[in-house]
Amino acid sequence: MSRPRKVHVKSFGCQMNVYDSHRMADTLAPAGFTETTSPEDADLVILNTCHIREKAAEKVYSEIGRIREMKEAAARDGRHMMIAVAGCVAQAEGKEIIRRASTVDLVVGSQNYHRLPDMIARVQDGEKVVDTEFPVEDKFDVLAAPKRDVIARRGISTFVTVQEGCDKFCTFCVVPYTRGAEVSRPVEKIVTEVERLTEAGVREVTLIGQNVNAYHGPGPDGRPSTLGQLLRRLAQVPGVLRLRYMTSHPRDMDGDLVAAHAELPALMPYVHLPVQSGCDRILAAMNRKHTRRDYLDIVARLRAGRDDLAFTSDFIVGFPGETEADFRETLTLIDEVGFSGAYSFAFSARPGTPAAEMDDQVPQEKKSDRLHRLQAAITRHQRGFNAGFAGRTIDVLLEKPGRLPGQLVGRSPYLQTVQIMAPPKLIGSIKRVTITEVGSNTLFGALADEMHAPTRAAAGA
Ligand code: SAM
Ligand code: SF4
Repeated sequence: MSRPRKVHVKSFGCQMNVYDSHRMADTLAPAGFTETTSPEDADLVILNTCHIREKAAEKVYSEIGRIREMKEAAARDGRHMMIAVAGCVAQAEGKEIIRRASTVDLVVGSQNYHRLPDMIARVQDGEKVVDTEFPVEDKFDVLAAPKRDVIARRGISTFVTVQEGCDKFCTFCVVPYTRGAEVSRPVEKIVTEVERLTEAGVREVTLIGQNVNAYHGPGPDGRPSTLGQLLRRLAQVPGVLRLRYMTSHPRDMDGDLVAAHAELPALMPYVHLPVQSGCDRILAAMNRKHTRRDYLDIVARLRAGRDDLAFTSDFIVGFPGETEADFRETLTLIDEVGFSGAYSFAFSARPGTPAAEMDDQVPQEKKSDRLHRLQAAITRHQRGFNAGFAGRTIDVLLEKPGRLPGQLVGRSPYLQTVQIMAPPKLIGSIKRVTITEVGSNTLFGALADEMHAPTRAAAGA
């Protein structure tokens, strides 16, 4: 075992990157690295990047500038700090990153994290290392598992990647190029990982993948398993109280998954189902291969099985050729579904994607105006959704201490944040909570069997 060293991993972008960041830290642990939350003290800083929109990539370069100053300060103290860039920007830009920012020592693509210890050794020998090849081996087979105390530190709710990559090629999206073809992990490997997590105290597992409901990993009999079947299997793992999954594609929302929502009490009544646009012409130009009607039918089928389902979505405004009338169709879809929240983005032309080359690019001011209007519509629905919880008693999984002494923070089944006053021993359990006040993003409540409702001020609103 080498001398203790510290690694700081900063995640940009989606939950898949958060999961990958944890796995990178786990893989470096046997090489003597412990995690630190402060980059200044680190011997190795890894920026785990996202390439989905232009601003995301630019943020990375400005972050590299910030870390370079820390590296220079460390060097003045006689300490060598290494800087690594990982994730989708690394995958897409490769050695261009070191050309543009020579302070970077290592560029590692999203499929190669298991090789990090070896790459670090090469950097220490004075090499600049770039590894963005798609390897033949499965990184999940060779990535180290986290230790029990590390799992416990990361909390009772965690992500598990079950599927990676995408073959759908939406015309705006870089994922098929940066994350590669769709691959699903075998059921038994996921079950083993979830068992390890629950033994260490995890109570909620969110299965993640770029197209998580396209999951088709081999089951114990070698035949492909659906996401619904995987969820049913995981619901049997002792200690699993709650299951969630994201991000789904409307095309892969099959009858089995719809049935799982109706059947499985552990599967939470919340679906993140990106639609991107409410206009069929734009959906076709995006190569989404579903229509507005298809989307509304899926929502109806899911609600028929479980009528309290909450839906969130992703939207892109200002896709090339989008007219005001097209955009209004997105607004009416929002009203029809009544989303409880959404991520929304102005279209960002990504080099190498078909949409970047399309005529009729929408001017920036129009994109900003539509984004603003769309977000106002979403906020209105989100407020209405949350307001409906005042006075209701719901199950809350208590996750962690809040900002105030005696306060705990948890989640409702619908993924709302809930704050209550309760003892820390309740962390990891589901309690009945009566909602006494509704904030813009948070519900405030009290244990139903105690009902000492804190005022909003006391709960730190
Ligand atoms: N696989 C998911 C799906 O099918 O919708 C989403 C994956 S993507 C990582 C997350 C979101 O980023 C997309 O749903 C989309 O709204 C947004 N996005 C992707 N490419 C974009 C682009 N070029 N411009 C703006 N937003 C984009
Ligand atoms: Fe990107 Fe479309 Fe694949 Fe989602 S389905 S990751 S938006 S290409």
